[in-house]
Amino acid sequence: GIAHTTSGRRYRLGVMGGTFDPIHHGHLVAGSEVAAQFDLDEVVFVPTGMPWQKRDREVSMPEDRYLMTVIATASNPRFSVSRVDIDRDGDTYTVDTLKDLHAERGPEVDLFFITGADAVRQILTWYGADELFDLAHFVGVTRPGVPMTADDLKHLPADRVTLIEIPALAISSTDCRHRVRENAPIWYLVPDGIVQYIAKRGLYPHPETGVRS
Ligand code: ATP
Ligand code: MG
Repeated sequence: GIAHTTSGRRYRLGVMGGTFDPIHHGHLVAGSEVAAQFDLDEVVFVPTGMPWQKRDREVSMPEDRYLMTVIATASNPRFSVSRVDIDRDGDTYTVDTLKDLHAERGPEVDLFFITGADAVRQILTWYGADELFDLAHFVGVTRPGVPMTADDLKHLPADRVTLIEIPALAISSTDCRHRVRENAPIWYLVPDGIVQYIAKRGLYPHPETGVRS
């Protein structure tokens, strides 16, 4: 990979992990906004393998989630997609994602892990939490409906975690899936290509009829 930018400073790589079932404009705005505010050279989107926090629902095939992420990010020259999590066996843990990206990209790369405010408050409960802050800087983006307080951050290392506000986008994958099931529109919540991919692959069918129009 690229070790340095042309200026010779260390390469700044944003990492946006997610289930991306489906990817939506909230994810894309978060990646774009953090890239601008943190002067990132690239943001890599990393679809999860087996989402261990989401065992309670059916998650779409990794290949579908990977392809949707590729489609949604294709037009942005600074966005890329990594298969490290979907190609690794077993559950996905952020500590493994960050270690694999370090191994792949080399020691001259600084990682900035981008996560929604809802996840920031849970970081300390994640597997490998003691190592996480050595591997990456954490950027928590505010999500509509998930207010952050100083209390949420009090156990996190202040020099390794930054919270930023991004333009409010009250979009979630959960809502997108519900909309598809109920035949409500998802236009403009997700990129056009994602609307079309979901229809083409028949993702998120109605649980009773098993079909969608
Ligand atoms: P679900 O509803 O299935 O949980 P989601 O919309 O939260 O899906 P994920 O794939 O779980 O999407 O999220 C990946 C990352 O993007 C998480 O860190 C999450 O907090 C963040 N994120 C999701 N939606 C937004 C949004 N609208 N604005 C900012 N960050 C978001
Ligand atoms: Mg989520």
